[in-house]
Amino acid sequence: MNLFNVYPLYDITPVKALDCTITDNNGVEYLDLYSGHGVISIGHTQPDYVEKLKNQLDHLGFYSNAIQNPLQVELAQKLGKLSGLEDYELFLCSSGAEANENALKLASFHNGKSRVVAFDNSFHGRTSAAVAVTDNKKIVAPINAQQVVTFLPLNQIELVEAELEKGDVTAVIIEGIQGVGGLDQGTTDFFQALEKACKKHDVVLILDEVQSGYGRSGKFFAFQHHGVNADIISVAKGMGNGFPVGAILISPRFEASFGLLGTTFGGSHLSCAASIAVLDVIEKLDLQKNVNEVYEYFLEKIKEVPGIKQVKGKGLMLGVEFDFDVAALRKKLIIEKHIFTGSANNKNLLRILPPLTVKKSDIDTFVKALKESLEELKN
Ligand code: PLP
Repeated sequence: MNLFNVYPLYDITPVKALDCTITDNNGVEYLDLYSGHGVISIGHTQPDYVEKLKNQLDHLGFYSNAIQNPLQVELAQKLGKLSGLEDYELFLCSSGAEANENALKLASFHNGKSRVVAFDNSFHGRTSAAVAVTDNKKIVAPINAQQVVTFLPLNQIELVEAELEKGDVTAVIIEGIQGVGGLDQGTTDFFQALEKACKKHDVVLILDEVQSGYGRSGKFFAFQHHGVNADIISVAKGMGNGFPVGAILISPRFEASFGLLGTTFGGSHLSCAASIAVLDVIEKLDLQKNVNEVYEYFLEKIKEVPGIKQVKGKGLMLGVEFDFDVAALRKKLIIEKHIFTGSANNKNLLRILPPLTVKKSDIDTFVKALKESLEELKN
């Protein structure tokens, strides 16, 4: 059987990794400034994480959600404490798309409506809004049989209000910082007005923190930069440091009932062990502090590079924008300079999404390689 060929692949075969370094099958070392779409939060094969997972696997990897699992309770308590959202409740699942599906479902159950408002260039998972096709009115396409999504431009609150006025919108879903869409983000004024408008019209505000959460933005959640509260927050990626796990954090205004949501794999013993280890390491290594320090350093250091239009994003969720398509630059960085970076829908943007453990010296390595690559590409 062959693989269904949906991914263009670089000819590199990683076989091991430690912290921000990936080693391929020829022994070549790469600096990982992308962490596999922002998944590696505490560094590859972090020793405490590996030990906890191995130990859990030796005892019990999985059993059904219909049986007591104290690891889920421990995870919920630790996540509440670290995120500052102790009065929220946790529903565990296995991916970002599944988290968003459950968030949308919960919204619909809650207010009995079904239309969803999302934003241009947003991405919420392969099973949801991202696959929608927009027409010139920016309305459109089913997420599933029951839901349609209306896409609006970011930061235009009057357009959102006009949609909410219609009375059929169940939820507004918005990324804390847009990921693959190109690192755009709502302004503080916009987030605050959005929260108010959602309250006024009984619309659920869903913050998709699948990529921007878990400390990546410099706060635990990116929306926390804006002084707002969310009704439901979806998380995944950095939550398990490579172990597939997702979740929604649900505000106290929602009431649980048996059978309302469900999943087979979510909340398994192994996934909880991975997620607890991630939170323990974030706390132990004070990674939040590291994110902010390296971000400040990055902003200064990147000024050495000529021809940059702007640096987008926040914390360690960054995009360096040029006035040309960066595909060749990115390829050169990977193949010749051995540095992984990411791409976005905006072809001029080089995405920097490293493990939260990245060091200032890694930024020096990147900036040097970037300057050299730009020079070499000119010739
Ligand atoms: N939401 C955001 C903001 C994402 O960036 C992604 C994945 O890139 C998803 C949701 C979907 O997550 P998953 O691929 O785990 O289903």
